[in-house]
Amino acid sequence: MNYKHELVIAVGQPISENPTGIMMEAAFRAKDLKWRYQLIDAAPDKLPDVINGIKAMGLIGANFTIPHKQAVLKHLDELALSAKIIGAVNTISIEGGRLIGHNTDGQGFMRALEYFAKAKPQDSIVTILGAGGAARAIAVELSLAGAKSITIVNRTLSKAEQLIEDIAPHLKSSLSAASWDSTHKIPNSTDILINATSIGLYPDSAMPDVDMDTILPDMLVVDVIPNPPETKFLKMAEAAGANTLNGLGMLVHQGAIAFKIWTGKDAPVDVMYKALIDEFGAG
Ligand code: NDP
Repeated sequence: MNYKHELVIAVGQPISENPTGIMMEAAFRAKDLKWRYQLIDAAPDKLPDVINGIKAMGLIGANFTIPHKQAVLKHLDELALSAKIIGAVNTISIEGGRLIGHNTDGQGFMRALEYFAKAKPQDSIVTILGAGGAARAIAVELSLAGAKSITIVNRTLSKAEQLIEDIAPHLKSSLSAASWDSTHKIPNSTDILINATSIGLYPDSAMPDVDMDTILPDMLVVDVIPNPPETKFLKMAEAAGANTLNGLGMLVHQGAIAFKIWTGKDAPVDVMYKALIDEFGAG
């Protein structure tokens, strides 16, 4: 009898309210894999020890989340192309002792767009609220998929400008930064509007300061926040007649891509999605 389970960890701080383990363990069970997923709370100064631990224990993979997504880069042996452009890693695989960094957030977002909203970003005009790691990953993947123009709106304008300066040399879309005006008006040419800020993330119940009269019925409005799935922002956008997509789809698909990287098997996306819906009691 083999009682050993493979262990995959998610490293972050805070980490205890991260629901990724629910869908990952459901996926491992569905695929009959003796794997476990565990959350590890680690402060920034513990990152080198965590990396040594991963190597010493022979783990196959790990996720990294706030505040480690950029700091982990210097500990890796190799980077996938999108992780290199994005400048952040949320998933690592360990192959032959080498640590390889991937960023599945943006690709997860793209798959969710297609899978749940049947949206095609080719030639689209995109407005992104926020200029953090999620916004960065989404902007890169949307641009690689042929978005015509992407505007990054951020409270701290310099961060939006820096984001564009970092990614523009690698991309073809027209990219611009905008400061966040009070009751911000969304340009009416926008096809896809994305809240990639942390405003509205549990336990916060606020919403981005946007003029909801500028949300039009032909827009797709996406909120990356997975918890709660139906944010106040999405409810208001729905009331304005827009199509909406919540953050659970991105969460499931970024995890499904990581699952494939680690196990080599296609992830049971429906099982993972259902595990989260059961947890949150919403769709
Ligand atoms: P970061 O900390 O890197 O960035 C946070 C962003 O939110 C910044 O642009 C920040 O603006 C903005 N922001 C925060 N509070 C406010 C506020 N009160 N008013 C205006 N702007 C604000 O976080 P991430 O990019 O990593 O994560 C952002 C969100 O994306 C989180 O809610 C996270 O849960 C979600 N996420 C979801 C994923 C999924 O799979 N569904 C995957 C990854 C992330 P400023 O620069 O001015 O500080």
